[in-house]
Amino acid sequence: MPPRVNCSNFYPMETCVRKIHFCYGHRVMRHESKCATLHGHNGVVWAHATPIEALDKLGRVIDFSVLKEEVGGWIDKNWDHTMILFKDDQETIDLCKQAPSYKDLFILSTNPTAENLAHYLLHVVCPKVLKGKGVVVHKITFWETENCYVTQSLDPKDEKIIALYSN
Ligand SMILES: [Zn+2]
Repeated sequence: MPPRVNCSNFYPMETCVRKIHFCYGHRVMRHESKCATLHGHNGVVWAHATPIEALDKLGRVIDFSVLKEEVGGWIDKNWDHTMILFKDDQETIDLCKQAPSYKDLFILSTNPTAENLAHYLLHVVCPKVLKGKGVVVHKITFWETENCYVTQSLDPKDEKIIALYSN
């Protein structure tokens, strides 16, 4: 097998991708049309991880099940089957707090667009749940519907990002 080369100036050589399904409700505050109404989606997240240093002893970026358990587990606990609402959307927050519910609302500091949900996963959730696992999640693809998706990416060689993932 050819040796690994320093790929700091290139897109990651090896990427492990895990697909995660969940259901959520939201509304986009101040949206120009129908997305201003409370509604729901069957969202799909694709978490793309790359090794900080090298593949593990078995030749993996990370075991697929770790991405499922850590990233999928966080989504399941916090976002699946609940309303994700903007902190400034007080009327909707108050309204939803009146409704019977199994779990708490998830209040975001930004409007809960697909872009902002992907950004939150990339910059807040993944560094927290994958700290010390030897990988960086450098890209989140977020399907709001089968036809519409967004991506958020970062440079996995950025020292500030690596520091977030280090113990
Ligand atoms: Zn929507």
